[in-house]
Amino acid sequence: MSEERVSIKIRLKYSDVTTFQQRFAPFMSRYGMFLPMRQLKAKGTLLVFEIFLANKQRIFKGEGEVITTYSPPQHSIPGIGIRFTALDEWSHQLLEQILHQQFPLSPLVPQLAPAPIQVMGDGEKATREELPAVSSPGPAVATIPSGGPIGRATSNRGSVTGASAVASPRPHLPLFFGSEEEIPATGPIIGIDLGTTNSCCAIVENNRPGVIPSRYGYNTIPSIVAHDERGNLLVGHPAKSQMLLNPQNTVYGSKRLVGRKYQSPIVQIIKNRFHYNIIETERGDAGVELSAEPFHLQEMSALILNEIKEIAQTHLQQPIYRAVISVPAYYNDNQRQAVRRAGLMAGMKVERIVNEPTAAALAYGFGRGLEQRLLVYDLGGGTFDASVLHIHHEVYEVLSTGGNTFLGGVDFDNRLIDYVVEHFTRQHGVEVREDPVKMQRIKDAVEKAKCDLSLEDSSALLVPYIAVKEGQPLDIKMTLTREHLDLLVEDLVEETIRVCDEVLHAQGLTPQDIDEVILVGGQTRMPLVHKRLTDHFGKHPHRNVHPDEAVAIGAALLAFSFGRSDKIRLIDVLAMSIGVGLPGGRFKPIISRNTKLPFQKTYTIGTTRDQQTELDIVIFQGESDNVGDNEYLGTLSLHNIPKAPKGKIQFEIRFQLDFESLLTVTARNLATNEVQEVVMNTQDTPQDLRRKLGMPEPPPESPPQTHLEPALGHPPQQFASQTPMAPMKAMQPEAKSGGGVLGWLKRLIGK
Ligand code: AMP
Repeated sequence: MSEERVSIKIRLKYSDVTTFQQRFAPFMSRYGMFLPMRQLKAKGTLLVFEIFLANKQRIFKGEGEVITTYSPPQHSIPGIGIRFTALDEWSHQLLEQILHQQFPLSPLVPQLAPAPIQVMGDGEKATREELPAVSSPGPAVATIPSGGPIGRATSNRGSVTGASAVASPRPHLPLFFGSEEEIPATGPIIGIDLGTTNSCCAIVENNRPGVIPSRYGYNTIPSIVAHDERGNLLVGHPAKSQMLLNPQNTVYGSKRLVGRKYQSPIVQIIKNRFHYNIIETERGDAGVELSAEPFHLQEMSALILNEIKEIAQTHLQQPIYRAVISVPAYYNDNQRQAVRRAGLMAGMKVERIVNEPTAAALAYGFGRGLEQRLLVYDLGGGTFDASVLHIHHEVYEVLSTGGNTFLGGVDFDNRLIDYVVEHFTRQHGVEVREDPVKMQRIKDAVEKAKCDLSLEDSSALLVPYIAVKEGQPLDIKMTLTREHLDLLVEDLVEETIRVCDEVLHAQGLTPQDIDEVILVGGQTRMPLVHKRLTDHFGKHPHRNVHPDEAVAIGAALLAFSFGRSDKIRLIDVLAMSIGVGLPGGRFKPIISRNTKLPFQKTYTIGTTRDQQTELDIVIFQGESDNVGDNEYLGTLSLHNIPKAPKGKIQFEIRFQLDFESLLTVTARNLATNEVQEVVMNTQDTPQDLRRKLGMPEPPPESPPQTHLEPALGHPPQQFASQTPMAPMKAMQPEAKSGGGVLGWLKRLIGK
């Protein structure tokens, strides 16, 4: 057969890879594809084919042979069926991604027996050229239109290098920027689990709670927001499906950032691990950038909530104005307020914020008239929570809660990824860690294998064309066993058991005092988790509550109970101590962790200087003795204090926590009995705080450590957890070295 090849160049009408992926997915198999075109090539023709986006960027290149032709009128779409003989490396990777989407295959794609496909270089010569523009058929990309770019507001204070400010309000987003009063207080109330990885929506209809499926038919939607190459806003499944190719413009895990200060220790750590840009907003909060445009994190949460609202509206065929939204028990005051604001921006009145473990307990106990003590064990994608609750008929009382904000399924994935990558590097002497796309492909395959190992004893891991060595493609091909996985993650599961014990111990309880263990979160499907809990508690975990849906169902049941005579009563506790910063940077708790809500406490302070007219009270939340390790909530500034000798003027400061753990702080002048004029400021920079707490100047800033992680990765270390846990030494590189941002913050605040 002559080796002369005909060159085909196809230019598409769109300019983004995502659209290509989605439109061509039904037309590509591992060994060949259907190429829509008008000027057909004869069967047996050898080709060099190149596909270009409208912006002339080449997106797919390979060599092949025409296997079939499709011409009108028998076929409405003219084109050819090609067998691949060679693809360039980028095309190999893109093809893997497309196959990963698992779109049903069009019957136009030729049925081909497996055959090796070479990796080709870039310098192949074409013999003839055609440049027809085709508009490919295929599924439309679900997008929310985004308006023109917005201008950036100027930051009103000294901001961090490279940080951007966020303009607001932002009419181009499909969000509501009005006040709560403008939202009708009518219609059904939906229950929403706004998750780190996935979110879920439920409603009680005809007295039965049920999940509302997404527009793609799944019971959960990915908590992901993205901009595609054209600047279109994607939410949920479409955002997830383009994540690998567009990681910088894909925001995942925003739940871990929302309501946090940019300068907070957690944000400073996450900032260097996530692929998208985390920036500082004009108010000092953490924000994100999509296509170089700054966004508030509440807007990310609001867009996910808005998608959920729209799904519910379509399902219920009526507008939705009200919701009960769940949050992690450890969420601090700022984070809860941020979720409320996000709900409002999605056009919903948030009737109640409910803690996730409480919601899960409701899903278990609602209407059953129980008298039991439960442990809710919640191991999701990124965090672990354990809570002990007492159910007395329709009263759900949280007794104790604790957890680790940096322990979740992704840590299990990371252990397996490390093992697989080390094995591959040892075997072939090829390093893949530097390439985020390859690492994401490995992560996807490994996570799937991890989930398979919850059902099977072994799982075959195959990541084709992960690298090229001496012109030969290399695959990752190995068999993983459940036994081996268990060994790799044993200590992570042990850590969750240790947290459970600590949560029990806080109330003087032992595992024998627990009547039922309720499982929440996808990672609880792992058999090792079941086994360890069964051993530890002497009974099997409860199986009738769905780990992905329990929280949304519980939120819906709570919503359902509003206005009914057999109303549910929830009694919560404060998950993390709230207190004030003392001179030098020490932390003085005012209300301790596990205090039953609602609660209020007062204490007295006096002026510390003669003729003092201003006084600042800096409020933090956390368990460390050192304010630098805790979350900054705000500064209460007392102004216009009458001039007097030091200590003469005394104030009574009142900390009030409502039943949802929302904080109000007031000050009263004890001499005049007047409530003092106060301003709650949440915008202080570390420099402001250092001045207010009378702390010394820090040494010059050392550059933050950067460290490449898979897209959903995070540092496998515990940080700023609500419970003072014993450090997992091997897992705390930055804390141990005292370097990086964490070390900088510690030095700043003065450990
Ligand atoms: P969630 O945040 O509750 O959606 O949990 C997501 C985490 O659960 C991810 O790390 C998943 O890999 C993990 N997961 C989901 N299904 C399984 C399974 N069958 N076995 C083990 N882990 C799972």
